[in-house]
Amino acid sequence: MKAVFAEFTVETRQRIEVVDITEMVERAVRESGVRDGVAVIHLPHATAALVLNEYEAGLVEDMVRLVTEIFRPGADWKHNLVDSNAHAHLASALIGSTRLIPVRGGRLLRGTWQNILLLELDGPRTRRVVVEVLGV
Ligand code: ZN
Repeated sequence: MKAVFAEFTVETRQRIEVVDITEMVERAVRESGVRDGVAVIHLPHATAALVLNEYEAGLVEDMVRLVTEIFRPGADWKHNLVDSNAHAHLASALIGSTRLIPVRGGRLLRGTWQNILLLELDGPRTRRVVVEVLGV
């Protein structure tokens, strides 16, 4: 069994935004040489999240709205007394920053409308994306 590690960075531009990283992750899987196994995709950050879903302009706006309405940036969260990004920590904690996707035939086994989306919650920042591909 192989274990192949890859890492790349993404520059985000907005406080809260959705960035499609599907192609970069697929490339990491391709270059790993692993045909069958799993890919662990991980953001080593406490204020960003990973989502598997459709990258459609309206839905992207809906995701930003949902995060804003549920996690309420600027609300009276206690962590806002520290550095004003409690909403980002809470959303990252609940949505999650790691995804596990099966790899078959050298490609991620994704649904047609399952892109890999980096959800920036406290940008703009440079975000690291780690991909660990395990398999044969
Ligand atoms: Zn913080």
